[in-house]
Amino acid sequence: MKIALLLTGNELMTGDTVDSNSAMIAQSLAVQGFDVAHKVTVGDDMDLIVAELDKLAAIYPAIIINGGLGPTVDDLTSEALSLLTGEPLVENAQALAHVNEWCERRGVAANAANLKQTLLPASATVLANPVGSAVGITLRFRDCVLLCTPGVPPELAAMLEGSVLSALQLGFPDATARLVRRLKLFGMGESALQQIIADQCPHWPSEVVVGFRAGVPLLELKLEIEDEAHLSLRDQCEEELRQVVGDFIVGENDDTLGAIVIDLLQQQTKQLTLAESCTGGMIASNITAVSGASSVFGVGFVSYSNAVKASVLGVDSTLIEQHGAVSEPVVRAMAEGALERSSAHCVIAVSGVAGPDGGTDDKPVGSVWVAWGGVEHINTHLFHYPVGRKMFQTLVSALALDLLRRYLLGSTTVPNYYQRKRSK
Ligand code: ATP
Ligand code: MG
Repeated sequence: MKIALLLTGNELMTGDTVDSNSAMIAQSLAVQGFDVAHKVTVGDDMDLIVAELDKLAAIYPAIIINGGLGPTVDDLTSEALSLLTGEPLVENAQALAHVNEWCERRGVAANAANLKQTLLPASATVLANPVGSAVGITLRFRDCVLLCTPGVPPELAAMLEGSVLSALQLGFPDATARLVRRLKLFGMGESALQQIIADQCPHWPSEVVVGFRAGVPLLELKLEIEDEAHLSLRDQCEEELRQVVGDFIVGENDDTLGAIVIDLLQQQTKQLTLAESCTGGMIASNITAVSGASSVFGVGFVSYSNAVKASVLGVDSTLIEQHGAVSEPVVRAMAEGALERSSAHCVIAVSGVAGPDGGTDDKPVGSVWVAWGGVEHINTHLFHYPVGRKMFQTLVSALALDLLRRYLLGSTTVPNYYQRKRSK
């Protein structure tokens, strides 16, 4: 079912806020069978909001309105709905109870600005907002259902899967949820994957639609069916895919490499340590982004300078002098030093040239030595990704975590990431 989206807010027009809510709304609702077909963005301008709603309501059975629900004078949504429908604004008992309760929990009395949020068009129904003070609103205008949502992203997120989805499903019971299986891959681009499927899965059934969402660092592969009757067919396709590119599939849905590695470490009751140079702590950040990381991660080292590689990790200075900081002996010594100092069981060490400066003929920008493994064995490999400083750090952090993931799963072969010519 096709729906429309009206985004409001001067901050979206000036560029002070970059719109991310429309992506959140579209992605969250598409899997439930509601596709955003039309998206309009306007500033906090009453006439424009009313005019756009009038136009969209003539075309679409439902409009999601985002922003402008709050307590400030630039929050115009409720008043715009009143002008559109000709309904007066009246105090809504449910909204009032919500605002009072919200204020009470914070130990403050509701002020006039808070109470402004309780004035809704007479026929409006409240959409519960479990996070913020402003309730969502839904009402019918002609043949269209209008659903108003808050601009603050965490409030929107909480409502999309809750009250907004319930209201849409109630209004449009025929919309069928998509049956999407989302797999996450690292180290392979979408065109390569598309080609592999075309070459190696020639009997792919048309009932199972393949979709991609390129992301950094993970690629999302979607297997979508329309009918529950095809669930086992989709399972067969997934099995076939796993046989072809299974080692590149790292997880599913919202899995991250950090979370997957933590999971494996927990299962094996192992502790991880890190010795990071060119990633400057990004691997540690990927790990500590996951709740529960402390069960497997006690300490990591950001050993950026040569002096600290020697003084903190115990890397022999003559190794650095002889081979340079970006070298196999040094990255291995960094890994060994980190293991020794932390008493962890597993380690990742990285030393590379992120650029744009600092490259040499034999160590050009984008070169990186990675060491990974455990106390019993440390693997090392040289990679080369001249992709710009930020992307290099993101990619190397993910690649290092993926190598450890593979190691924890019992594999020490270095995959041909992104089907590049081998650097060694
Ligand atoms: P509030 O109660 O804070 O006033 P509201 O529902 O009235 O919430 P807005 O005032 O429109 O929403 O937006 C509040 C904040 O939410 C904005 O300052 C902005 O940071 C963020 N925001 C609004 N629209 C978007 C959007 N499309 N994408 C990302 N963030 C947004
Ligand atoms: Mg506001």
